[in-house]
Formats: sequence, C-alpha cells, structure tokens
Amino acid sequence: MNRASLFRTWKTGIVLLAALLLVWAVATRTLAETQTVLFVAALVFVAMLLRIETGDAAIGFEAGVVFGAVVIFHSPAAALVAVFVGAGLHALWYGTTHKQWRIDEAYNAAQLALSYSVVALLYSLAVAHDAAPPAKMAGFTLLLVGYLVAHLTFVSIRRWFEEDASPLDFRRVLTLQGKTLLLATPIVAIEVMLYPRWGIASFAIAFLPVLIVAYAMRNEAEAAQQNVELLRRNKDLAILTESSTQILSAETDHETLRRLMSLLSKLAKMKACAVVTWESNPDVAGTVYRFGECLPTDQDVLRWVDSAGFAQSAPSRAFVFQSDMRKFPLSSGRAIQVLIGIQTPEVIYGVLIFETEDLSILKAGSLNLLTLLVNQTALSLQDQLLRREMREKTIQLESHAATMSTILDVSNSLIGQFDVDAALTRIAHAIRKAVGFEQVVFAVYDATREEFVRRAHTGLDDVWEDVRRKRVAADEITTFFNPEFRVSNSYFVSHTAIRRTESDLFVRPEDADDGFLKPDEWHENDLLIAPLMSGDQLLGYVSVREPHDRRIPSVEKVQTLEIFATQAVTAMQSARQYEEIKRLTFIDALTPAYNHRFFQEALTKELHRHARTGHELGLAMLDIDNFKRINDTFGHPVGDEILKGLVEELMRNARDTDVVARYGGEEFAIIFPDTPAASARDAANRFRELVERREFPLAQIGRTLQITVSIGVAVFPRDGATAADLIARADAALYIAKKQGKNRVSMATRLADSEVVV
Ligand code: GH3
Ligand code: MG
Ligand code: MG
Repeated sequence: MNRASLFRTWKTGIVLLAALLLVWAVATRTLAETQTVLFVAALVFVAMLLRIETGDAAIGFEAGVVFGAVVIFHSPAAALVAVFVGAGLHALWYGTTHKQWRIDEAYNAAQLALSYSVVALLYSLAVAHDAAPPAKMAGFTLLLVGYLVAHLTFVSIRRWFEEDASPLDFRRVLTLQGKTLLLATPIVAIEVMLYPRWGIASFAIAFLPVLIVAYAMRNEAEAAQQNVELLRRNKDLAILTESSTQILSAETDHETLRRLMSLLSKLAKMKACAVVTWESNPDVAGTVYRFGECLPTDQDVLRWVDSAGFAQSAPSRAFVFQSDMRKFPLSSGRAIQVLIGIQTPEVIYGVLIFETEDLSILKAGSLNLLTLLVNQTALSLQDQLLRREMREKTIQLESHAATMSTILDVSNSLIGQFDVDAALTRIAHAIRKAVGFEQVVFAVYDATREEFVRRAHTGLDDVWEDVRRKRVAADEITTFFNPEFRVSNSYFVSHTAIRRTESDLFVRPEDADDGFLKPDEWHENDLLIAPLMSGDQLLGYVSVREPHDRRIPSVEKVQTLEIFATQAVTAMQSARQYEEIKRLTFIDALTPAYNHRFFQEALTKELHRHARTGHELGLAMLDIDNFKRINDTFGHPVGDEILKGLVEELMRNARDTDVVARYGGEEFAIIFPDTPAASARDAANRFRELVERREFPLAQIGRTLQITVSIGVAVFPRDGATAADLIARADAALYIAKKQGKNRVSMATRLADSEVVV
C-alpha cells in the first residue's frame, strides 16, 4: 500500500470519526443546547468565508467564535459540532460555487472540528465551569497553545502523507496564527463578558468588529496574492526575453540545450535532465545530452525513448508525472518529471525529460512557459540543422566546381600538347589536387614486351628514377582487374589482397603491420587503380595512393579519377595521331626519308639561317645508276626494296642535323648544314662508297643485289643564294656525274653557267 492510498484511508477515517462524534454529541444534547450550538455553527460558517488560506498557514477567524463558545459553554462537544457543521457548510458552499466535490473539503472540516474539540477538552479538563477569571485566562492561554500544536500536527501529518520533503516554515505559520489569535483574544473577552447579559445575540454582535477587520485583511491578502502573481509574470517575461536572445544565438546544439537548461532552472530548480535528439532521421542513433543528476546510462535513456516511440511522435505539450508516477525516473527520491517533445511542425528534433522538486513547475503558467522555451529551442535547433546542411552543400558544390575547373584546365592544357609524358604529368598533378591523392603514377602498356612502363608521376620525386626503370610485367597488374575489386570502372585493391599476390611491387613492408583500422580507413598498402582503355584496347593504367582524407574513396571520387583517366587516354591518342599526321605530312610514303615538301621547307629555312650566320651549306642530289634496268629485270617491288635499303643506309650514316629526303622517284636530296664545300664533297663521296659496298638482301628473288649512285653537290652561298638556284646547280652537277660515267660525285663549281639546266 503506498502513501497516497494510506492518506485516503486516513482522511476517510478522520471524517468518519468526526461524523460519529457529531452524531453522539447531537444525540446527547438537549434541543435548546443544539439550537445554540447550531447558531454558533452559523457564526463559524461566516468566519470560514473570511478565512485566508496561504499554503500551510491559514488565518482562521472562527477561532474567536470557537474559543468564546468553549469558555462560555465549557463543552468539547459544542466545539466539535459548531466547527464541523460550520466548516461543513462552508465546504458545501465552496463545492457549489466551484462545482467540485472532494473528500478533502470534508476532511478539512473534520480535522478542524477535531483540533478544536481536542483543545476544548483540554480546557474543560483544566478549568472548572465556574472558575475565577484569572483561572479562565490561564485556560485561554492553554487553548491558544493547544490550537497551535493541533494545527501543526495535522499539517505535518498531511505533509508526511503527501511526501512533501520541503521544510515546513514554522515561523511563517506561527506569525500568521499568532496574528489571528491576537485578534481573537479581545473578541473572546467581549463575547464572554456580554453573554451572561444579552445571550447568544451578544455573542454574534461581539464578533462584528472581527468581521470588518477580517474583510479588510482578506482584501489585503488578495492584493498581495495578485502582487505575487504579477511578480511571477514579470519574471516569466524576463525569462522569455532572455530566452529569445540566448537560445537563438547559440552556435552548437549542446550550447543551445545548455542555455535552455539554465532558463528552465530559473523556472524551477533543476534536479536532473536528459535531452535525446535524433535530428531529422529517426534511424540514426540519438544523442543523449545530460544535465544535473541523471542516473540512467545513455543506453538506458535511448532504449526507453525508443520503446516510448518518441522518435515517431513526441509529446507536443508538457506531460507531468510526480514521484512514483514517473515511468522512467532520472533521479532518485521524490521529483516531478516533465516530458515534452522538442519539435517544430516539420521536424521532431528530440525529447526533453526534466526533473525538479520544485512544486511551482506545476502551475499552468510555468508549464506554458516551459513549453514555449522548448518550442523556441526546437526552432533554434532546426535553424542550426538547416544551416549545417547548407554549409555542407556549399562545401560540396565548391569542391565540385573546383574539380570541374581542374578538369577544364587540364583539357585546355592538353590542346596542342603532343608530348605524352608531359601530358600525363600534368594530369597526375591535377589528380592530386582535385581527387586528393598524394601519389599518382601513370604507366603505359608496351604490347610487344607485355609490360607496363611507368611514364609520369606525382609525389614520388625521391624514388622516381628507380620506379621508372623497374618495369612491371603485364600480369602483375591485370590480376587486379578482377570483378572482386571493381568499383565503377576502376579497381580498389585492399592491402590484404595485395599481400596475397606475393608481389613486393606495391607492398611497403615497413608499414605492413595492420594496427587498428576503422571500417573506411585507408591502409598504407591499399591501391586504387584505373585502367586506361581505348575501346577494348588497354593503353595503360593510373594508380593512386595516400589519400589526403585517409579514407577509402567513395564511388564519386573513383568516378572523378576516371574522368582524368579518360583525359589521359585522349592525350595518349592525340599524341599518337599527331605522330601519324606528322609522318604523313613530312615523311615519304615508301621510305623513312623526308618527303619533297619537307625538303623544300627545310632547305629554305636552313638557307635563311645560313644567310644569317654566314656559314656554308652543302646540298647533294643523288640518283641511282641504271635503276630502270633493275626494275625491268626484277620488277618494281624489288626496286622499292632497294629504295628503302638505300634510305636506311643514308640515314644511318648521316649526321643528326643532316636532312635525307626523297626528291622524287629514285632521286634523293641530302642537306649538309654548316658544311663547307670540301666537307660536303667528302660526305657525298663517303655515301657513294657506302652504297657501292652495300649488299641489298632481296627475299623476293632470293639473292642480293648491288647498286651505285651518282651525286651532284652544290654549296651555299657559292653556287646559289636561293633554294631553286642551289637545287638547279646540284642537279646540273648530277647530270655531269652521269655523263662522266656514273658512280661518282661531281661538284657544281667546276661547271660553267651555260651548263646549268633550270
Ligand atoms: P641513269 O643511270 O641514267 O639514272 O639511268 P636510270 O635507269 O636510273 O634512269 P632514270 O634515272 O631516268 O630512271 C628513272 C627510273 O626509276 C624510272 C622508274 O622505273 C624508276 N623509278 C622511279 N621511281 C621509282 C619507284 O618509286 N620505285 C621503283 N621500283 N622504281 C622507280
Ligand atoms: Mg632518275
Ligand atoms: Mg637513275
């Protein structure tokens, strides 16, 4: 049995006891006596109307009536009947006007009746009915003290039952009661003195001044009460004003909630408090913020909040539970618990569990204010949530924009860039910047050797020369191109898998020790590798390591890497196409020699340069002797082979700066830059001898052939200032060489001008 039900039993018992005594008292009195006592009861009723209730203390003007009756009638029964009937009538009147009937009113009446009858009993036992006035005075003092003791006893009993631990303010009770009793004493004296002369009417008349004073006191008390209420509202208003600046200006969730706590503590002294928040997504585990003495663990709090279903619908107004009624107590002992959802129409942000011992929280005004503060907090938290989301979005957008601009920069820089290594290096730097990997390596596939050659990097400066030289067998990489490792179109190879390959290529032994890794943490030996594909053809790969954020990359990140991989493929393809175009534009279709067009441009350019430097330049025109015969005898394909072999011989023996070009048919031109006439003649002769000595192996006819060439040499500026002049002079010299018997070198200078055929 708990105290609340014990209290109910106690109250019923007291009411029954008083009622029984009442019946006994009325039954044993004469009619005249009963009528007199009922008149006194009517006076008690009037005095009760003027009773001033202030918490534990009460100012009861009925004391004047009852004490007078006790002194005059000398009967505890009279006190009991008068007070019980008077207070009962008052309770009836109160119930009718307020439309509420409670056992408490009857109990109050019974308690009051018993208190007065007990002190009346004490008085009648101590003082004789016909005692002298001094004895009666002493008895009256006994009445006062007895009344005070009885009053305090009942108040204490009540507080024990209601588990009210706050200390009883004895001084206040004594002061207030003392006031009444001081007021009551002269009335009692007048009542007692007048009664023998004027009877019961004088009894009522003696009470008149008290009624007037009581009325005034009551008004004053009400005004004081209103004043208190006004002060409380002022305080509430101050809290509200403070809250709007404090709560809304907090930067973090915890700070917002801490400020809410400090404001709530002004409303009612906080004992314990927990706030559970779960932002907008109920699936993520909540956060528990604890304030004051909060006994349950975070896990317990979360479990309870979860079982109560607050994430789906939190209480929208303050729910109050007292002491034993708390479903989930935060603190030990007595406390009032207030539950309220921290929410806006859009978001249930969390729930507040607030505990206090302060009864003032139970006032409607306090609860309204609390609700208001919590709503304000919810708005502030929502505002912070939105701002956080916006910040994250902005950062994301900015990083996207930066990546895009890097991609664009790389694309632009690749235009006109036909050096593969330079292009790949540039892309590697861009990957480091935009995708965030410290080490980037580009390797190009060499199909003939079936290996990868590392061509460009970033972040490997110290070891690059070694890394570059060490070639990677194709299958060491292609084992990673395995669906098991696939992310988007790339492969993320975890360090555990790399160790499985038993290759030391990608493992850094000094860091091979695992340690503790979070689920998405990047390990030293992890590898992300994107193949460089052109259709089905593997051109190479790009591998990255040491992510700046030390996290295993997201799919988005891998896809960004793949954009750069695609750029690398494009760069490699365009470099290849450039080489091809260059070949088609400047190289002869049959032999590796430059073509006629290139020769013309090169000669013109060289002549300009030589004109500036004043150096000499040699130009040799070379023609195969009796070539028609070879064609006629062995066929054109054999002639073509000989042309190729001849160019090969010439190019192998020419200097890097020499230009060997096919002038047309089986006629070739060789430019000797910075070469005086004698040297040009010697070079031409050397070529002639080399050709003469060479055996041309010809698979088509299963034998070797030998040829000779005739060469005419002209020298700039001696033999001509322009390309056309020089060519004409060299050609003329060649003609002379042919005429003189072929397989020889002829110089232009010995010729007369008339022999030059333009
Ligand atoms: P000469 O010693 O006077 O130079 O006698 P030749 O037979 O070489 O006479 P000429 O220089 O006039 O010969 C040109 C011949 O070279 C004609 C053609 O059959 C042959 N020729 C020209 N271009 C090619 C070619 O691209 N391939 C082959 N197989 N033969 C070519
Ligand atoms: Mg010819
Ligand atoms: Mg010829």
